[in-house]
Amino acid sequence: MDCLFCKIIAGDIPCAKVYEDEKILAFKDINPQAPVHVLVIPKTHIACADEITSANSGVIAHIFENIPNIARLAGVKNGYRIVSNCGEDGCQSVKHLHFHILGGEKLTERMA
Ligand code: AMP
Ligand code: ZN
Repeated sequence: MDCLFCKIIAGDIPCAKVYEDEKILAFKDINPQAPVHVLVIPKTHIACADEITSANSGVIAHIFENIPNIARLAGVKNGYRIVSNCGEDGCQSVKHLHFHILGGEKLTERMA
């Protein structure tokens, strides 16, 4: 499958890894929009939030169970924002579900 994040999971494209286990991978965003900007992805290919079902949602719970630790490993100390863009109007550019963790400074109150 021609998916950038599946290639990162496979090790075919390098990443700056923050955390990895058997189900998920977290790595630094290549174009950071905050002092801390990490992406957390499931190792199984799920295109976006539209494709979360009762059959695959276990990995989503696993991501959220691990986000506090991932944020700490990435260096956030005073809170963070979690963002997941979905589809055209959401400006999703990589069609493999991912959660942005943004922090390291006071973020803007406006989200869109
Ligand atoms: P989105 O626009 O929500 O689909 O987010 C995709 C994110 O992936 C963007 O913030 C990009 O900067 C980031 N990105 C694209 N290619 C890479 C890469 N090779 N390594 C790390 N982050 C990437
Ligand atoms: Zn993928």
